[in-house]
Amino acid sequence: MAPRTKKSPAPAETAPAETAPVETASVETAPAEPQQPVPHVRVAVIGSGFGGLGAGVRLRRAGITDFVILERAGSVGGTWRDNSYPGCACDVPSHLYSFSFAPNPEWPRVFSGQPDIRAYLERIADTFGLRPHLRFGTEVRELRWDEERTRWHVTTSAGSWTADAVVSAAGPLAEPQIPDLPGLDAFPGKVFHSSRWDHDYDLAGKRVAVVGTGASAIQIIPAVQPTVRSLTVFQRTPAWVLPRADREVTGVEKWLHGKLPPTGLLRRAGLFAIRELQVDAFVRRPQLLALVQQVALRHMHRAVADPALRAKLTPDYRIGCKRILLSNTYYPALAAPNTEVVAAGLRELRGSTLVAADGSEHEVDAVVFGTGFHTTDLPIAERVYGVGGMALAEAWKDGMEALRGSTVRGFPNLFFVIGPNTGLGNNSMILMIESQLNYLIDALTTLDSIGATAMQPTERAQRQWNLELQHRMSRTVWTTGGCRSWYLDEDGKNTVLWPASTSAFRRATRHVDLAEYELLKRTAPLGDARDTEVVPV
Ligand SMILES: Cc1cc2nc3c(=O)[nH]c(=O)nc-3n(C[C@H](O)[C@H](O)[C@H](O)COP(=O)(O)OP(=O)(O)OC[C@H]3O[C@@H](n4cnc5c(N)ncnc54)[C@H](O)[C@@H]3O)c2cc1C
Repeated sequence: MAPRTKKSPAPAETAPAETAPVETASVETAPAEPQQPVPHVRVAVIGSGFGGLGAGVRLRRAGITDFVILERAGSVGGTWRDNSYPGCACDVPSHLYSFSFAPNPEWPRVFSGQPDIRAYLERIADTFGLRPHLRFGTEVRELRWDEERTRWHVTTSAGSWTADAVVSAAGPLAEPQIPDLPGLDAFPGKVFHSSRWDHDYDLAGKRVAVVGTGASAIQIIPAVQPTVRSLTVFQRTPAWVLPRADREVTGVEKWLHGKLPPTGLLRRAGLFAIRELQVDAFVRRPQLLALVQQVALRHMHRAVADPALRAKLTPDYRIGCKRILLSNTYYPALAAPNTEVVAAGLRELRGSTLVAADGSEHEVDAVVFGTGFHTTDLPIAERVYGVGGMALAEAWKDGMEALRGSTVRGFPNLFFVIGPNTGLGNNSMILMIESQLNYLIDALTTLDSIGATAMQPTERAQRQWNLELQHRMSRTVWTTGGCRSWYLDEDGKNTVLWPASTSAFRRATRHVDLAEYELLKRTAPLGDARDTEVVPV
């Protein structure tokens, strides 16, 4: 887990580099730095992946046009902009891994590749009029709740804003995790993380190491194996891998989905239903997964003839405990003559020699880390300061917690998209994102309709929600399956996944229950905090 450090107190407020006003945005003077006007918006959204763009669409549809989308990179896309490694594709069928309000009859494959998903998100930004709201090259460095003025101060790399509400869609898998290995800095060759692929460096003919055998690595390995001189795969824990039922979407299917949109909806509904039916096995009856495990074993046996290699690749935990991976090309690539599987993690680097935990040594020219992301220690938490200056990272030091995956006590009007315990083991994250957006919009419109300024969960509601959630978690395959996965924090608590169906989450986030919230009402004009009071419901 990244170190939790206390940040400096007051943000320096300067006007943003790009100050094009967003429709009704008002401008006022911040108390700390009167010389510079700081623009105020109703909502500041962090991130422009599926979550941030989805938030933009839903805000506009709710009639809220006074918002900015702050993005540290230079274009939209999030995950699908950053992960451009060879072979990158989704592992949920595209007709389900897309917004319900923006069906795409033109998906080229059942599991479309990164360029097509990225292009889809660029189109979302155009079609739904999000461009005027986007602020690129704008990294949010600090969010600080101003109790007197009941608003957020947002400090970024390109200036500051104030906002009534903040939507954090900074991504569950956005911050690469590279292990801190002895000798890494002195490695003379090329090193990069799967999500920061260096396309200027040609791996062809090189001795390449891939560290990790998770979802990204199993896509990279078959994509690079045919062209590299040698491939050394460092595997700490083998993955369960199932066949990938991928194919091109035919012209007839595309025509049908374009001309008769209900056929696309039907396809989506079918894909959804299949995944919903599987949930019970993951969350309540892991023993049912034994059958799936047999399918995975047969899949490996068909591709890997060498029993010694099969032994290395056979997991010792129940299928589903770690993310199930889908590939028809991974095992053949591992069985290829230029590939060596080292069934041990990478321990250290001595010059260009990689030393595994089993003591074996491997000479390479390049190292690709497929070692995942900061998931249970979300970096954005280090930058958020709520009521009383409390850091969110501090509030979450014993594990991330929110109410309904969306709001956190002590951090009023901060709404998460893919917050704690909203991840999925076997379904499309876009379903969860859309549920959280329903909740966000209901919260903002409810605040308006009751004349309140801000809301935060009661301690009781947040505690109760998490007690029940962790109780349900105790039966899941993620807890009982005998593995250590990236879903678990350093104390072994699963703060990433949702332990029920996506329909259950949809129901839980349809409406804000005001009984679960404390409301704040600003009864004094701005700048005069004396009359700001807590309004009981
Ligand atoms: C390789 C890969 C494959 C995946 N495949 C699937 C799949 O098949 N199915 C599935 O359901 N899910 C998949 N996922 C999970 C995926 O992350 C989510 O489905 C979804 O794309 C997350 O969207 P998001 O908008 O929440 O986050 P992201 O797409 O990560 O977007 C977050 C954005 O916030 C920006 N940001 C972060 N911090 C700051 C800051 N401080 N200031 C300003 N901007 C900031 C980032 O630059 C980024 O653009 C995959 C993830 C990866 C990495």
